[in-house]
Amino acid sequence: MAHPPPTLRAPRGPQKTAKGWIQEAAKRMLLNNLDPEVAEHPEALIVYGGRGKAARDWPSLFALIETLDRLEDDETLLVQSGKPVAVLQTHPFAPRVILANSNLVPHWATWETFDALERAGLMMYGQMTAGSWIYIGTQGILQGTYETFAGAAAKHFGGTLKGTITVTAGLGGMGGAQPLAVKLAGGVSVTVEVDPTRIDKRLATRYLDEVASSLGDALKRAERYKQEGTARSIGLLGNAAEVLPQLVARGFTPELVTDQTSAHDPMWGYIPVMRPDEDPDRLRAEQPERYRERAYEAMAAHVRAILELQRRGAVAFDYGNNLRQRAFEAGVTDAFSYPGFVPAFIRDSFCEGRGPFRWVALSGDPEDIYATDRALLELFPDDERLQAWLTYAAKEIAFQGLPARICWLGLRERDRAGRLFNEMVADGRLKAPIVIGRDHLDAGSVASPYRETEAMRDGSDAVSDWPLLNFAVGAASGAAWVSFHHGGGVGMGFSQHAGLVAVADGSPEAALRLSRCLVNDPAMGVIRHADAGYEKALRVARERGLDLPALGI
Ligand code: NAD
Repeated sequence: MAHPPPTLRAPRGPQKTAKGWIQEAAKRMLLNNLDPEVAEHPEALIVYGGRGKAARDWPSLFALIETLDRLEDDETLLVQSGKPVAVLQTHPFAPRVILANSNLVPHWATWETFDALERAGLMMYGQMTAGSWIYIGTQGILQGTYETFAGAAAKHFGGTLKGTITVTAGLGGMGGAQPLAVKLAGGVSVTVEVDPTRIDKRLATRYLDEVASSLGDALKRAERYKQEGTARSIGLLGNAAEVLPQLVARGFTPELVTDQTSAHDPMWGYIPVMRPDEDPDRLRAEQPERYRERAYEAMAAHVRAILELQRRGAVAFDYGNNLRQRAFEAGVTDAFSYPGFVPAFIRDSFCEGRGPFRWVALSGDPEDIYATDRALLELFPDDERLQAWLTYAAKEIAFQGLPARICWLGLRERDRAGRLFNEMVADGRLKAPIVIGRDHLDAGSVASPYRETEAMRDGSDAVSDWPLLNFAVGAASGAAWVSFHHGGGVGMGFSQHAGLVAVADGSPEAALRLSRCLVNDPAMGVIRHADAGYEKALRVARERGLDLPALGI
């Protein structure tokens, strides 16, 4: 390219240049995803998650912006893997944008096929919220991790992690949220990390409270905080494949054990156990096969220790990094004896359509988000987890790009929040419209057998009719834009998932759209889990007025 790529930033405030607020919202969210405060590599149009992009290439991005600005209120823009391919006349209640990203016919659904098509300029990787223009930065990671540990607290420890110790590893991009999330749930954590710079970074950004000088020191501190009931996080420099077996040898059993090292990638992610005179980078460069073998050996030792801690009474769970699979490949035949985090702690939320609800203030004014925080604290006074999270977030979370918030809400809650925001726009309590969306990691929007749909009660883990129905239901129910993606989170061939975004612009039409799509979207989570036979979902379906003929409800 002759010129350096421009720095992108969403317009702010109550004036729009597009013909309707939905088109304006789509344009602002697309640009916000690529704001340098939000995106990992905006110069390459990459938002997050490896190479998750918001637009296929620069000409596509400019064409998207121009088209959104001229799009009429009865037209729909079609986006194929980040390229605006057509504008069709539809009707005012239709989505203004429909996106499909990274989808491949199942037989060809591999990284090899995708890479070849991407090189030929025919596709882009949409990840989850990158290609559907509703990524909001790291707030989502912290909140999701908090939900997981709060879920563990609810299931095993009477609703709080107070007086418990969690042992985990990995203080990287996502794993770095673990110490703060455990602390928010009331507990003590010891997080093992092999790279001292990662420990320093988490200390500097206050995601980690303190660092211990040895395993003995870490355990002494942790025991003291546990006895006092103090929520506190401790970092420990070391290799998890060494430290966890040492815990076993010492006879120390934590209440919870998990891991967020990058075990999904044995060559570049997981660090094998090294002698002091060895350098992992050198071993990798000079003897890659030996490096891989040693990474696998270490992951096997790591998982054997987790299994032993589990046998001794610790609650063990996998945090979506494929560590169990790696250990299994290395000969640990019982590696899958402990569950993934979704079946362990999140599925119960999914059974009531509860998942990551997020919203963004198009005014650009943080005060608009604080006003919505207060409004939700009043609207849901009995939801303790929501109260704790929103109170914390309002005080501590730094915004990236347009001010945004996330919290988990379920069926018959999301629409109440959405309508309330719409009223607040209408009566001037908010300065400009609010965009409402969610992750694709949600109750009824994803088929991903090693994550969100692992171990479904009826064995339907790989059935992707559900996210397809979810996508179509969003379009039929008044969403502002809808998307269908493949390969998010766990890679090509392993997941299919749908996205949905709505806009509260204060109009009666918006109120109607919000009343439909923010009921029907979380309803898909309840329906999917009721159909799979989950008692809670069946009860929620009855209590919250769903009509499910095949189940006699
Ligand atoms: P990252 O690569 O940024 O960080 C991984 C960290 O682990 C690094 O700091 C590294 O030094 C450390 N590490 C590697 N080997 C180690 C060892 N043997 N002992 C101790 N520390 C070691 O990755 P990230 O973004 O933090 O994600 C971590 C993993 O968790 C990934 O595999 C990711 O896919 C997974 N994850 C899944 C979910 C989910 O399923 N929802 C959520 C978050 C993360």
